[in-house]
Amino acid sequence: MNKTPVLFIGHGSPTNALERNDFTNAWRAFGQKMPRPRALLVVSAHWYFGATAVTAMPSPRTIHDFYGFPRELFEFEYSAPGDPDLANEIIEQVKPEWVGRDLDQWGLDHGTWSVLTHLYPDADIPVLQLSINALRPLDYHLDLATKLDGLRNQGVMIIASGNIVHNLRRLEWKQPKLAYDWAERFDDAVAAQLADAPGDILRVSEHPDFDLAVPTPDHFIPLLYLAGLAAAEADKPEPLLRGYSMGSISMSCYGLGTNMNSCTHGSSATQLPAGVPPDQANI
Ligand code: ZN
Repeated sequence: MNKTPVLFIGHGSPTNALERNDFTNAWRAFGQKMPRPRALLVVSAHWYFGATAVTAMPSPRTIHDFYGFPRELFEFEYSAPGDPDLANEIIEQVKPEWVGRDLDQWGLDHGTWSVLTHLYPDADIPVLQLSINALRPLDYHLDLATKLDGLRNQGVMIIASGNIVHNLRRLEWKQPKLAYDWAERFDDAVAAQLADAPGDILRVSEHPDFDLAVPTPDHFIPLLYLAGLAAAEADKPEPLLRGYSMGSISMSCYGLGTNMNSCTHGSSATQLPAGVPPDQANI
């Protein structure tokens, strides 16, 4: 049996949930081209806190974790079921690493639902989120990823949702198609590292543009789950989509076991609505 695919999705603005652009159209195509999984385990940049936990409620709530966006976005619901039994399986599988069972704190944040509403618009596949433990070093996440590899034999699709380049302070929110040269250089360096040796992805932390591209680790760490899962299988991620948004955000996406054999280049990215201050956008 083939292993379930793994995706890394560059998610960008939450308004992608409501839009159709090059990126969301590509996400829709991914969902249509892959076999339907039993469940989805999402590592989202937006559940970044002081513990490793997995959502274990039967009906995870939709979390609107941003400010200033249109009412339509706050009313958005992605009503996929959870899977408490799968949460227990994951907790057992990664031992001796400790993973907490989240029953009432989190749910599905916009790093998850702004992407899943395009990948799986019917919201009929169970979804779990795995938090990013903010207290652990980068190599912890690479290692934890390898412990999740067995889920790929059980029909579980792992989706990492972040952005390879994510600098909100440098955002040019009126120029959705802009890509800064340093953003392109770092995104290209990551592409080269994934093509060469994904298990050594942390080498990119020595790249001269790393500090500009990754001013905080939250949106970068999801990539480590893709890289760790690639290393676990001695496999190489496949570029699925390359592109940028508002200068300082990479929308690039990669897959493992996806076998799509094509890479789209997107440029019609979304932009922030008028009135959303970039420093509070929390995208
Ligand atoms: Zn985000």
